Amino acid sequence: MSLVSRHINSTRLVRSYNASTVLQTLYKHGSCSRSQLAKLTGMSPATITRIVAELMEQGIVLEGRAGKSTGGRKPIYLHIDHSKLYIASLKLLRDDCCAALLDLKGSILHTEHLAWNAQPEVLLNDAVKILSAMFEKEQVNREHIIGVGVAVSGICHPGEGRVIRSVNLGWEDVPIASILGAQLELPVFIENDANACALAELWLGAAKDAANSMYIKTEEGAGAGIISNKALLSGSRFMTGEIGHIPVIPQGEPCRCGQQGCLEPYVYFRDVQARYGRMSGKRVDRGQFIELVHSRDEQALRLVRETASALALACAHWGILLDLDVITIGGFWGTFKQDIVEHCQNYYIAILRQSGIPCSTTITGSDFSEDADLLGAAGLVIDRWFDPLSVPFNR
Ligand SMILES: [Zn+2]
Repeated sequence: MSLVSRHINSTRLVRSYNASTVLQTLYKHGSCSRSQLAKLTGMSPATITRIVAELMEQGIVLEGRAGKSTGGRKPIYLHIDHSKLYIASLKLLRDDCCAALLDLKGSILHTEHLAWNAQPEVLLNDAVKILSAMFEKEQVNREHIIGVGVAVSGICHPGEGRVIRSVNLGWEDVPIASILGAQLELPVFIENDANACALAELWLGAAKDAANSMYIKTEEGAGAGIISNKALLSGSRFMTGEIGHIPVIPQGEPCRCGQQGCLEPYVYFRDVQARYGRMSGKRVDRGQFIELVHSRDEQALRLVRETASALALACAHWGILLDLDVITIGGFWGTFKQDIVEHCQNYYIAILRQSGIPCSTTITGSDFSEDADLLGAAGLVIDRWFDPLSVPFNR
């Protein structure tokens, strides 16, 4: 049995079997009358009346408009107040760890930075402390938090809630879901960070109307999340999208993995920053680097062109291989619309033109800036909790 069983053994209302079934049905259908709920759930009208009364008392379910009478009293339609149920979300990346609280609509209500610690137990204990303080500060009833989603750098086993291996974090076999779940007493769902971002784009972003899409992470390293026919591709060993250390540029930049020309040294900002430092003798931060590109500084532009070439190859190779509708370049490099995104799009069009094929693939930057991981991780909780309904952030 999965360690992250959907219905945890709890007498608390929201996670009780009957209440969660009513909420899941309302979530799927948007609004229902009490008699419709009884039919859809198979529960007795008396049980539905009692559960609905309890959920209304807690403010989670509201009465809306009256429907047409079919002889007797007019039925009253019920709906969920999406601002009264919450999801906790964690982003665990090499240079960027944070915790957040979201509502059921995917609105981020609060975020807090989490100081990095290489010891997973220490980092996860700190995450528990920060989340607990956040729940208290936001005066959130714990019972109204449906779960915790975690986007983490590395190869993950989502069913077991475990990081198998994370080169970037230096972690091996870390049972995140059981460590966090035991302390927070909430169901915990984890996913690789690029996969979480791909899901956020599918549910809320650029890939919303696409059947097949890819999200390329270009922030803390390179990785991709791939959506095939609206579902996440995981592969046989959960390694789908681990593209960071496939050499794309022959005799290219040396990589920390020992090879040359991997995608990673072209997109990991600290590597590019170090190269700029060696070329110019100046150390620049992200903001300064962006300014240099905008002012068309030749050395900065040279580095951007190298990154653009590496990303264009990645987009063309894997995009055409998978026949994608949308490729989203997330993170830092996706914000360079002209120098990176348009370059990748033009290269893609040119490659296909050689074969006489018109290009219908859209390459775009992400609109979520740094929130894609948190949104994707929160979406996982909705996806699993409301499974098999699976329409996260249904508003
Ligand atoms: Zn490498």
